[in-house]
Amino acid sequence: MARRVVVVGGGAAGMGAAGGVKAADPRNEVIVYTGFDDVAYSPCGIPYVHGREIDNFQSLFLASKQAYVDAGIDVHYNADVTAVDIARKVIRVAGEGEVSWDRLVLGTGFNYADPGVPGGDLSGLYYVKNIREAIEWDKVLDTVKSAVVVQASPLGVEMVTALAHRGIETHLIDPGPWALSEMADPDIMAPVEESWRELGVKAHFNTTLKEFVGDTHGALRSVTTSDGEIQADLAVVCTHKEPNNALGVAAGLKVGSTGGLSVDERMATSAPGVYAAGDCTEIPHGLTGVPLQGLTGSHAYAQGKTAGVNAGGGERTYSAVYVPWGTAAGKWIIGGASFGETTATALGIPYVVGNAQGISRARYYPGVKPVKVKLLAEPGSLRLIGAQMVGGEGIKERADFLAMAVKFGFTLNDLARMENVYSPAIGALNEPIVVAAQNGLDGLRKG
Ligand SMILES: Cc1cc2nc3c(=O)[nH]c(=O)nc-3n(C[C@H](O)[C@H](O)[C@H](O)COP(=O)(O)OP(=O)(O)OC[C@H]3O[C@@H](n4cnc5c(N)ncnc54)[C@H](O)[C@@H]3O)c2cc1C
Repeated sequence: MARRVVVVGGGAAGMGAAGGVKAADPRNEVIVYTGFDDVAYSPCGIPYVHGREIDNFQSLFLASKQAYVDAGIDVHYNADVTAVDIARKVIRVAGEGEVSWDRLVLGTGFNYADPGVPGGDLSGLYYVKNIREAIEWDKVLDTVKSAVVVQASPLGVEMVTALAHRGIETHLIDPGPWALSEMADPDIMAPVEESWRELGVKAHFNTTLKEFVGDTHGALRSVTTSDGEIQADLAVVCTHKEPNNALGVAAGLKVGSTGGLSVDERMATSAPGVYAAGDCTEIPHGLTGVPLQGLTGSHAYAQGKTAGVNAGGGERTYSAVYVPWGTAAGKWIIGGASFGETTATALGIPYVVGNAQGISRARYYPGVKPVKVKLLAEPGSLRLIGAQMVGGEGIKERADFLAMAVKFGFTLNDLARMENVYSPAIGALNEPIVVAAQNGLDGLRKG
């Protein structure tokens, strides 16, 4: 039986859901509401346009508006949903009034955490998200002399690199002792910080934001920190991603300990007929069961697909996550799976380590790059529980593989005996994962 499914959100989760609804049954009616002018663009590419690695914003658009019309997906742009009434199965849309649904999917995403200091209303504070705003900010960047990136979050790391590539005097302030200190280990970030220094970046760690200071016209002039004042005409606010779930909470949906909406493996919320996906939800970590919120666009898309298929009358499940991650940072690529030493220590999880400093191709092949691999395993069983890496290439593929290795319970012994491709242009004789596992085993034997 065809259904009318309403999706709130036009990001990765919302558009994944819309496709899932149609995949479940092409006769389903699907209506998407987004507060933005566009859907189906990649926000992930924005830092790389700012950094001039990508030469235009147009290439970030993944599909035309007409493509959605042709697919039978009715997208309402600049349409803010102001309320959800679960009992009556309606939403309220600004300017449209009430719209009824048989099933509802919430993909309302994230907001950057409020920096919580004076001066938050000054012009010159950039929250990177909406592509139309990014296009305008890109013009502003041509005039910016000095910028402060607030917090070395994943986006902060990308924006520091982008602004430095753009030739802007770039400062990074972060309360942690090193970049990405909530998820990455210091030995992984050390080469990145070194390459930022080469680019002229001034990183201020163990430093908290105190105030955005404006001039008489209400424009940012400087940023006050616990370590002094930094002259800046731009601040890029890259604070923690918080779930944007005010709609769901007001409608009475259950939230978890992170503040994200609680969902089951079908992405169903606590209310019948209502699903949620993406950064407004929380999902358990596959090993620890610890709820995680604010994962990535690829997680949001896959969750959205699951929610959409189920809302559309199909059957699909989404399981706990093992979190492969990675990004370009300075002149390196960093990444990993599950967690590293810092998180394991914070959670009180015991571990043994295997490290290797290897290479990405045959040592004589042009373009060969270093690849550092660190594996964490459970003492005794030697089951892989996490990995972190830094290097010049091949980090993404290793992160994806190692997330599966964690998921399926591979041990250091399995990884030490892993087969690998050796071909001078693409892979070294000694695969760094194998060497790291072997080094871990050797270290244990020696005591
Ligand atoms: C600059 C940047 C870089 C990124 N880089 C990466 C990357 O490299 N890799 C990666 O995997 N992910 C990346 N991401 C993705 C990101 O971190 C999120 O995980 C992803 O955007 C989550 O998707 P979402 O659909 O849950 O939420 P969002 O993308 O936040 O979308 C939320 C949607 O909900 C709509 N909405 C919210 N409230 C309402 C309402 N009341 N009424 C109507 N519409 C509403 C918004 O208009 C928007 O369309 C990046 C994001 C940004 C902004």
